[in-house]
Order: sequence, then structure tokens, then C-alpha cells
Amino acid sequence: MALVLPPAEIPAGLADDVGKLHQSVRTLLTHKSIPWQVMAKLAQDGYVTMEDLADRWDTAETARTAAPAELEFTRNATGEIHCHENLPVCQACQVGS
Ligand SMILES: [Zn+2]
Repeated sequence: MALVLPPAEIPAGLADDVGKLHQSVRTLLTHKSIPWQVMAKLAQDGYVTMEDLADRWDTAETARTAAPAELEFTRNATGEIHCHENLPVCQACQVGS
């Protein structure tokens, strides 16, 4: 299963963390269809403003290579974004219950 991403509803367990993001950040990441779990991880790490995001990686290239490991996602050959683990129950992918 791929991670749940906008415009699909946010998984309930991720709403608190995503709610910490400033509206401008949330709007941007939602527009880019960034998975909810990745947004929640950024918020957990304290990256909640545009300035925070701009500081996280030095270059776009670094962001592309570092982000999957740091934010706990992986991209398959067709570009679908998945969580690292193949869990029987995963809220971010809304698998199981
Ligand atoms: Zn998952």
C-alpha cells in the first residue's frame, strides 16, 4: 500500500502532528501531494515554518537524496511513495485497523 496523501483524508493519528505545521507550509505540502506521514514527521522534528523547511537541507539535490531516509519513506520504480515497513497494520497507509 502507498502512503495516504492529499487530497485523501488525513489518517486520524497524524492529525495532531500535521496541525503543528504553519498554514503556509501545510498548504504548500498539500498542494505538492506530500504524504500525511511525511508532513507529520517534519512537524515532529520541529520543522513547522517555511524558514525551518528552507534550513533543513542545503540543496535540492541533498533534499532528494536525504529526505527518504530522514522522513521514513521510500519511492518505488513507478514513483509511488511507501512507508519503509511492510506492516500488517499501518495508519499512514491505512492498512489494517
Ligand atoms: Zn505503511
